[in-house]
Amino acid sequence: MSWDNIIGLEREKSILQRAIISNRIAQSYLFYGNEGIGKKAMALEFAKTINCQNPIVKENSIYACGKCVSCMEMNNLSHPNLHLIYSIPAGKASDAKSDNPYAKLDEKQITEIQEELKVFSEDKYHKFMITGAHNIKIDQIRDVKRKISHTSGASGKSFIIIFNAEEMTREAANGFLKTLEEPAENTHIILVVQQREMLLNTILSRTQQIFFEDLTIDEIKNGLVSRCQIDEQKAKLIAVLSNGSFASAKNYSRNEFTDLRLKLVDLLRTSVKKGAYKIVLLDKINEIIKENDSKQIISALLLFELWLRDAYSYIKTNSEDKIINLDQLDVIKKFSSYYKTFDYFKAIELIENSIISIKKNVNIQLILVNLYLNLRRLVYKFC
Ligand SMILES: [Zn+2]
Repeated sequence: MSWDNIIGLEREKSILQRAIISNRIAQSYLFYGNEGIGKKAMALEFAKTINCQNPIVKENSIYACGKCVSCMEMNNLSHPNLHLIYSIPAGKASDAKSDNPYAKLDEKQITEIQEELKVFSEDKYHKFMITGAHNIKIDQIRDVKRKISHTSGASGKSFIIIFNAEEMTREAANGFLKTLEEPAENTHIILVVQQREMLLNTILSRTQQIFFEDLTIDEIKNGLVSRCQIDEQKAKLIAVLSNGSFASAKNYSRNEFTDLRLKLVDLLRTSVKKGAYKIVLLDKINEIIKENDSKQIISALLLFELWLRDAYSYIKTNSEDKIINLDQLDVIKKFSSYYKTFDYFKAIELIENSIISIKKNVNIQLILVNLYLNLRRLVYKFC
């Protein structure tokens, strides 16, 4: 069923389906909520269902058939009723006053936009981003208004969907306000933003606002297993790190940071060794820095932190239920039985501080060396 393409968000889906079934579709919507949870995917599914030529109705649900011409065109973003607006680069200054906002862009920029749209049409959770694009400009709003006036005779309903609507310039927002005040017939607008406070009050008050909740850990985990063919244990680890965002989860899943987590755990082993541990520790840290960028190291440190939390939870509850690093179960059990009185909270605090320092661009080698020397001190103090 078509809404199933969207992970979770059952409440939001049901609001929109009820609006279609009862024929009370609002003129303008505001979808707001964190990044990567499926707001754009939902906006497109909504437009697709409303324009579907053979929708399937069942009690309180209505689904797009996914097979008709309209559904196909919605899927590949080529539907004449679909008008997407998103930030594009400023382009070169041009003397000729063109009505076409894309006329100022060079070939490379146009190609990038086309490629980005293609990727997005295949994966509606793709983070839509174009190099150097920070603003939605007034001529883009005018361009869409013009297109809509040309297609007003077409069947179905037109949808203007604005990605990151907070990126509208003041001029564009004011121009857009007129569209909201004097809506074209059979045209609906969906503004997609992370924080609604970023929009003018005059715009907010003219929209029906729907808050999109973060996805749950289970929803993300199941999405990763079914869509990205990731095994359950790894999917759960990634889901915990993703802060409710499926787009972040997919990003994490592409990196080999779970292996890096094991290297960080191994560093702890190295750092508590007696004898010449310092040289080995430094060698291993240098190798990690050579092979990974700061983002990967931060992700792995977060997992290392979860690993320590797992060990602590096992000491307290003697149960495997809350353990997230399930692939590490045996090692965690062994560690926690050996280090029962270890100051886990202090260790976690040390890792958190290291992450903050990495984000501030402090030398990563120095941060990691300090982290492990401090962890070593903790081990010898309490154990
Ligand atoms: Zn259809």
